[in-house]
Amino acid sequence: MNLVQLLSQNFAKYSSKPVIVFGENTWTYQDLEDQIRDYASLLNQIGIKKGDRIAIQMPKSVEFLFLHLAILSIGAISLPLNPDYRGSEIVYFLSDSSSNLFITTSDRLAQFQTEIQHLSNLQIILADQNSNPEYQPNILGSLLELVAQSPKEFVPTYSSGGNDIAMICYTSGTTGRSKGAMISHRNLIANMEALHEAWQWQDSDRLLHVLPLFHVHGLNVAVLGCLYAGATMIMVEKFEPRSAWRALEREQISIFMAVPTIYQRLISSWQDLESTPDLSKMRLFISGSAPLSDRQFDDFEKLTDFRILERYGMTETGMNASNPIDPKQRLPKSVGFPLKGVEILIVDSNGKSLRDGEVGEVWIRGENVFQGYWQMPDKTKESFVDGWFRSGDLGYVDPQGRLYLVSRAKELIITGGFNVYPKEIENILESHKSVKESAVIGIPDQDFGEKVVAAIAFHEGLQVPLEDLIGHCKVSLASYKCPKQVFEVSEIPRNAMGKIQKHLLKIGL
Ligand code: AMP
Repeated sequence: MNLVQLLSQNFAKYSSKPVIVFGENTWTYQDLEDQIRDYASLLNQIGIKKGDRIAIQMPKSVEFLFLHLAILSIGAISLPLNPDYRGSEIVYFLSDSSSNLFITTSDRLAQFQTEIQHLSNLQIILADQNSNPEYQPNILGSLLELVAQSPKEFVPTYSSGGNDIAMICYTSGTTGRSKGAMISHRNLIANMEALHEAWQWQDSDRLLHVLPLFHVHGLNVAVLGCLYAGATMIMVEKFEPRSAWRALEREQISIFMAVPTIYQRLISSWQDLESTPDLSKMRLFISGSAPLSDRQFDDFEKLTDFRILERYGMTETGMNASNPIDPKQRLPKSVGFPLKGVEILIVDSNGKSLRDGEVGEVWIRGENVFQGYWQMPDKTKESFVDGWFRSGDLGYVDPQGRLYLVSRAKELIITGGFNVYPKEIENILESHKSVKESAVIGIPDQDFGEKVVAAIAFHEGLQVPLEDLIGHCKVSLASYKCPKQVFEVSEIPRNAMGKIQKHLLKIGL
């Protein structure tokens, strides 16, 4: 089935109910259906067909959502792109995907207009008014005006479904070329249904949406969860901790989704609040996309009485595992149990299945798993073994079946023949009261092959000599695991989803 066709049942059922509140404006489910139809009508009018690729590089907005859902409704393929991507990155994504249409803002376009002129198939729509009128080729006009003029008698076709591709999401790509993960309608639906059940979504739920829309976390997990439940989302363009606390209270929010960096900022801002926020309608604080530390889990619980529910997913697979809905069953460090329909296997480097407690690569199978990398058959082949997707994450499963992640396979450090999982060291460093955050990496070493090195950022005013931190590690860790060197940084580099960019730290060494 087509994802938007499935969601359209709710457009009819909840027609007069608010679905999105953004700034001063509210859209009902009926408005959403009308908007999707008008956007789809525009796409149809300009010749977009089933399977065509449409790249969206827009600020967070309701128009982004209308456009994305309209693309899926006519069987075309949506390519959400980070607004922060620069010229050369954009040129790569547009040419690699042979995109037929690109929606961007005029200031961004001005930065790479010469580079994309040779992409002859590409039509462009501006998400704002054209502030650059000299640039003509391929620009169809501005999005809102074009939508307003689109034929109103259009009826959606829902021409794709099942294994047809709905989205191509380029992976963050910290090394090598970024790969376009092809995600089908079936993948999206399977994941949406599994999460609906796991998190017991209700039509009475109200979601505070603070995440970007260009990543699967904000676009699929959050938005689709809400639409499939017939719930309401309060969208904010930019996260700011104090206003988020106030919005949780004022908007009677029941579900909040974020990455650990956002939880850290919420924790740090708590002491600056004039009054304790009333969270009586709150049901679930959910975290993912990067590891939540035990300290963040504990600190948040101490302040709010809520145990954060951590889940694990990735662009290629959607969500794989989640902590249970029962707060008492949620454990720090664990990303929980496999979701319904998802199988998880832990294997050694020969692909042999390992026992409980043994660390190996996490392999994933299920209807959530993507269809391969766009035009990279070799990379796709390398990533699958007998229908299992090799996630590149290292982890283990406890006797109860809970999954624990220890690091990305590429971040594993092998020093003097011993495996060191950076997260174990980072947890110890962060248990020191002076350390705000840390990142442990391996750097080439003549004697050991690699040596363990840590970058740390101090809490303001709590600096201690760096050797003290090595001493602190020695109390709890075997010496081969202890950093041989610790260096201070003002902050640990992260991407928009809060993932630590370890390759950037290595450049500094
Ligand atoms: P992305 O495809 O950008 O969403 O990145 C996926 C990667 O993020 C996974 O392969 C994991 O390495 C990491 N990740 C996602 N959720 C978690 C989590 N709860 N804990 C630790 N790492 C996570």
